[in-house]
Amino acid sequence: MESSKKNIVVFTGAGISAESGLTTFRDNKGLWKQQRLEDLATKHAWEYDPERVLAFYNHRIAKANAAQPNAAHHAIAELEKYYDVSVITQNVDDLHERAGSTNVIHLHGRLNFVQSSLDASVVYPWHGKPILIGQRCEFNCQLRPNVVLFGEPVLHLDEARTLMLEADKVLAVGSSLSVQPAAGLLNEASAHAEKILISKEVKTKPFDYQFIRGNATELVPSVCANWLRES
Ligand code: NAD
Repeated sequence: MESSKKNIVVFTGAGISAESGLTTFRDNKGLWKQQRLEDLATKHAWEYDPERVLAFYNHRIAKANAAQPNAAHHAIAELEKYYDVSVITQNVDDLHERAGSTNVIHLHGRLNFVQSSLDASVVYPWHGKPILIGQRCEFNCQLRPNVVLFGEPVLHLDEARTLMLEADKVLAVGSSLSVQPAAGLLNEASAHAEKILISKEVKTKPFDYQFIRGNATELVPSVCANWLRES
């Protein structure tokens, strides 16, 4: 039977997890600001110097594992009481799931899984430990983080596009909208959908979105509370 609930798509980026202690990439305080991300998180870097790439990701695995969901993640999970909610995230942490969201699409992969370097479809759950050189998959190939490196295709893009098209409301949070093709998804939303973007700053405001500048933990619970009241 078709659900009578309205559809909400929540699109998130690194900014939603910033107040959980996970630094954004384009943040001045970013630990890796001395190194160009494009030199570190690429397919080429993995082939050329896997140890260096693992050091970068092992740090992020540990940080993500220690972080806790914040008020914004929790408010989004609450929306499921009265709406069909899909979360489309660029984030590789699992804070949406740990806050209780049940339908989360990770466009750029997940740090709580590892994959075979032979075949990206061979994945295993991974719980916060560092990935070591010499740790191998069942086909005897090195394990690597289950993340999309620059130069690799984004995951679940068609599914994400369809969800965007069908959304009655879209809430985008904490993305600079500078990484494509993920950022372009916001333009797929219907003209009839209510569209809100919350961030400290954005590269370019997408057409037809109400932009609310500020912190996710203050603004997201208030937007979600309004939507729950009107449901
Ligand atoms: P980004 O670093 O480009 O942009 C972050 C945005 O969040 C900025 O616009 C910033 O102004 C805003 N922001 C910062 N703190 C905020 C807060 N407290 N409340 C609201 N907004 C805040 O990140 P992006 O747009 O997600 O894209 C870049 C890539 O970063 C993605 O590929 C993603 O995989 C990766 N990333 C993920 C994590 C994570 O999983 N937590 C962390 C860092 C980077």
